[in-house]
Amino acid sequence: MNRKMSEDEFLACFDDAVNDGQIFVTYQPKINHSTGRMIGAEALMRWSHPEYGMQYPSDFIPVLEKHDLIYRADLSVFRSVCRFLRRCMDEGIKPVPISVNMSRYDIYRRNYVDEIEKLRCEYDIPINYIHVEITETSAIGGMELVSGVLDQLHEHRYTVEMDDFGSGYSSLNVLKDLAVDVIKLDMRFLSGNIGGRGGTIISAIVQMAKWLGTPVIAEGVETMEQADYMKSIGCKYVQGYLYSKPVTEDEFLQKLKQVEHEPVEQALDLLNAMDAGKFWDPSSMETLIFNNFVGGAVIFTYQKGKAEILKVNKKYLKEIGMNMLEQDILDSDPWAGMDDDNREKYEKALNKAIVTHDEVVCETWREVCSKTCGADRICVRSFIRLIGKTETQYLFYVMVQNITAEKKRTDELFESERRFRFASEQANIYAWEVDLATREMRPCFRCIRDLNVPPVVYNYPEPLIANGLFPPDYADMYRDWMKRLEQGEDNLEGIIPLTVGRIPFHVRYTLEYDENGKPLKAYGSATLVVK
Ligand code: C2E
Ligand code: CA
Ligand code: CA
Repeated sequence: MNRKMSEDEFLACFDDAVNDGQIFVTYQPKINHSTGRMIGAEALMRWSHPEYGMQYPSDFIPVLEKHDLIYRADLSVFRSVCRFLRRCMDEGIKPVPISVNMSRYDIYRRNYVDEIEKLRCEYDIPINYIHVEITETSAIGGMELVSGVLDQLHEHRYTVEMDDFGSGYSSLNVLKDLAVDVIKLDMRFLSGNIGGRGGTIISAIVQMAKWLGTPVIAEGVETMEQADYMKSIGCKYVQGYLYSKPVTEDEFLQKLKQVEHEPVEQALDLLNAMDAGKFWDPSSMETLIFNNFVGGAVIFTYQKGKAEILKVNKKYLKEIGMNMLEQDILDSDPWAGMDDDNREKYEKALNKAIVTHDEVVCETWREVCSKTCGADRICVRSFIRLIGKTETQYLFYVMVQNITAEKKRTDELFESERRFRFASEQANIYAWEVDLATREMRPCFRCIRDLNVPPVVYNYPEPLIANGLFPPDYADMYRDWMKRLEQGEDNLEGIIPLTVGRIPFHVRYTLEYDENGKPLKAYGSATLVVK
């Protein structure tokens, strides 16, 4: 006769149930909805009574918890999971990580972690094959107790999943204070229309989890619509009836053989540079700084050439201009506005920031497009900094400046300079420019070809004094010219014999100034003195 057992019957039958294997485990796969591959499974307890049939956890677990028996059931589940994993490995079947539930009453037991650890060692199961799920409501019993257990589990390197996230009374605070490795977000707690308020909450949680660098698994996913929605907001891992109900050990073993599996991507390991998590707290100093003091800034993830923008501040919107909305930017493909050359340049800069851990500056052109203003091409100077990483994914913090106007000016200058160079080529003039701040000198093609000057001369004119282009008796005079140019003396000219052949050239300098009247560049030219 199949029927629900009473509290007394549960208690009376419990010993036998544990000893006779009436309590057993079913497995429910966790799937990457993007690839259809399995990433793990959850072990769920069942009690099959010989007379009354299948009993469900929602009925017997509260009874066992009330009578302080749950730890025995949980340990028996843990042992079954170890035995199953050992069986897989012995039969040459590659398993997936199995999550085992830990009751909040297990947390009160001082030795619980030691006991599961003993079992794991007894069956010789690698630590990455067993995850532990603790529920958010465990925190009700006191934060110190849970965080103590969490530390113990982490000491042994268990992956800890926060179960039933979203069900509790203070989810966000719990998340802030408990460094769990995975968040399980139960769709059933946030049911209703996912396009409405529930959807907004879910997407905020997923965003925040991204910030904390914690992968999210959506639980209780029953429909394709739910799974697609979760994927669209950045949560691709799902568990629920859509893919599979909990199945018996034998059925699960068949699934393991048939279905491909893959590991969960590791959480972002935030570098110390910045506590990105605090950016989600609207009252934190970090948010204040992000919005008000740092200029245009954007935070995005980057993985194998793919980028996804997580957050931009108000000044970013202003800097990029075009009356864009934050949502326009979050929804857009970050690469969409860049042509191949600019994208390559930008990705090179990202890679340099990855290698050096230093700020890398890069200027790129991109097309921006908004609903109100249409499209325009702008030049952006980016100050790129890596703030987090995993084996495959990187988190960047980038400050931006719109330098389109500045760029257009220098492009015009460059164009006139190019014309000048071309003219000098025709007119037998040797030309070059010296950046007075850096002392970098760039010669024209004729200097390179006829006078053996390298394409860039650093610390000008010292290398050319050393190689004899400027004879020693003119060296100090020429050094003095450089000082006078730096001080703003325009239109210097004179005859200088160049090279060992002491060929006389008429050398002239003109200056270019910045907006404050400070000399920036000196343009030199030399013509052969014809006797
Ligand atoms: P839970 O840890 O949140 O487990 C997920 C529950 O959701 C499971 O119920 C599962 O069968 C059910 N579920 C999965 N996908 C769907 C879906 O798409 N739609 C719906 N409506 N439900 C879905 P189950 O197996 O009845 O377990 C209920 C609860 O009992 C678990 O919730 C967990 O809190 C507890 N439990 C189960 N096994 C254990 C165990 O070994 N130890 C402890 N301490 N608690 C356990
Ligand atoms: Ca669970
Ligand atoms: Ca759950």
